[in-house]
Amino acid sequence: MAAGQNHPSFGMRIKNPTPSLDDRYYVEHSNQHVGQGCLSGSENSAAIGGWRFTGLKLCRATALSESISKDLLPFLTSIQPKRMSDSYDTIIIGAGMSGLAAGIRLAHFDQRVCILERHYTIGGLNSFYRMGGRDYDVGLHAMTNYARKGTKKGPLAKLIRQLRFSWEDFKLAEQIGSSIRFPGVELDFNNDIELLESEIQKYFPTQIDGFRNLCDSLLDYSDMDGDDPRFMQSAREVVSSHITDRLLVEMLICPLMWYGNAREDDMDFGQFCIMFRACYLEGFGRPYKGVRVILKNLVKRFRGLGGELKLRSGVSKIHTDRGVATGVVLDDGTELEGKRILSSAGSIETLRLCDDVTQPEVAKAGKLSFIESISVLDRQPSDFDFDRTIVFYNDSDTFHWKRPEDQLCDARTGVICSPNNYIYDSEEGKLPDGVIRITTLANHDRWCALPENKYRAAKIEQYDASVASSVRFMPDFRRYVIDTDVFTPKTIRRFTWHDNGAVYGAPDKQLDGTTHLPNVFLCGTDQGFVGIVGAIVSGISMANRHCLVGN
Ligand SMILES: Cc1cc2nc3c(=O)[nH]c(=O)nc-3n(C[C@H](O)[C@H](O)[C@H](O)COP(=O)(O)OP(=O)(O)OC[C@H]3O[C@@H](n4cnc5c(N)ncnc54)[C@H](O)[C@@H]3O)c2cc1C
Repeated sequence: MAAGQNHPSFGMRIKNPTPSLDDRYYVEHSNQHVGQGCLSGSENSAAIGGWRFTGLKLCRATALSESISKDLLPFLTSIQPKRMSDSYDTIIIGAGMSGLAAGIRLAHFDQRVCILERHYTIGGLNSFYRMGGRDYDVGLHAMTNYARKGTKKGPLAKLIRQLRFSWEDFKLAEQIGSSIRFPGVELDFNNDIELLESEIQKYFPTQIDGFRNLCDSLLDYSDMDGDDPRFMQSAREVVSSHITDRLLVEMLICPLMWYGNAREDDMDFGQFCIMFRACYLEGFGRPYKGVRVILKNLVKRFRGLGGELKLRSGVSKIHTDRGVATGVVLDDGTELEGKRILSSAGSIETLRLCDDVTQPEVAKAGKLSFIESISVLDRQPSDFDFDRTIVFYNDSDTFHWKRPEDQLCDARTGVICSPNNYIYDSEEGKLPDGVIRITTLANHDRWCALPENKYRAAKIEQYDASVASSVRFMPDFRRYVIDTDVFTPKTIRRFTWHDNGAVYGAPDKQLDGTTHLPNVFLCGTDQGFVGIVGAIVSGISMANRHCLVGN
């Protein structure tokens, strides 16, 4: 709606020349002040300060002192303002990437949506924090599914289009380049598949035709509803049918398992295709300011559309009545009604909330979790000749993708990431600190069983062990470290409530997002797509498919 125009349906008038969601407004009717707050809503209705209005005139705020004045309440009733009640079209569990994206989609179509988040902040598995005067990302190495501005196809383009963002809102710097390092052999890749192809031609010349055949046989994103019988095939078997050199199979599969495989040892071919496209064909990018840029944009858009976000509002129960969910009960006992519920809490975790389920099958929960260390350096990695964005390393010819059973961590394989090694715009410049992040496999139960003092000591020991392992595959940076932080599966569990601190959720995905209840649906990790872009696309797809029907 252009500034200063009458709203076609309600005669609403927005006076300020460039209305912005951050502006505060006061609401008038017949020159009387009836409310104030930030504008939210869409073309068909508007919300301010907890009231939903139609037929009002909206003016930019000048001096704001009072909220809704009581003597105007009868008057408000006569013009039918609708107090937003505690009954929603859709209740979303979790303010991670998928929940926020779903919320935007639904609020955009004028649904009353409430996102409930147990943590005191947003972001879930991929949040951010400040410590010792520095900003940290919880998990961000790279956003997969990179696409250049204006690209029409692919997950990133889809999310920008469907959530009505601009490319600048998700402005990503491209990776410099990444590597897969196994003993005595290294394959470099970047956001152009030709580099990986030329590396294979160079180091595995007999395998190049097989690699090209594998690329030709990949499932498309449109085949990812699980109906294609090839989806559930063993990725190791399918890849080995094209590539006969076992080492190359292990090398190609290693980054894809690290960035999105919930199954131990092997991977579903469908998931392999998703990750192959996300990592090798599309590639890696990162916003200069990290994940907070993405999250803040998502929240701003959601709230701007009138969505409600309640933090510290864990869902302890999903109420059911005669086989249908009727609402949720929060940890503090508050009850909220909802016509449908979309949950990013995880599949088993959601079933456990339903009061008609006595025993969810916990054995189906995912097991793969990580420790991640962050080392802040007194110099940029380029100062000691390290220019790799990500290094996926493995210290033998066979890649083991399994929870370590009899130890806290398994540092034989790991991921090294430097957020400094992206091609940032010249006006953004370099990141203030040099940073190296190292991720290794870890056992959730063992970490959680440690008493507090041993837990702290183990964090230090495992930091040392993972760094010692990683410097076999990169320059030794230990003498430049000025600060460190480490998080474990226990941390992941504590802040996301996912069983086993499982980063990629359950191995068996519920690709259509349905549950045993006709109005409870899954989005995010356990629906099928993982990673930042994957989770956002999942939220959008599940909102479109299940919550906008008949809207
Ligand atoms: C260490 C680490 C590194 C990673 N690195 C990358 C990376 O570099 N690139 C990338 O693309 N992806 C990365 N990921 C993966 C990515 O973060 C996730 O795939 C994605 O964020 C998942 O989003 P989601 O919405 O599905 O779930 P989540 O982020 O888990 O969101 C679920 C939310 O639900 C909340 N919740 C759970 N139960 C309840 C309840 N009962 N009531 C209310 N709220 C509840 C949780 O608190 C959480 O906020 C990483 C993850 C980790 C842990």
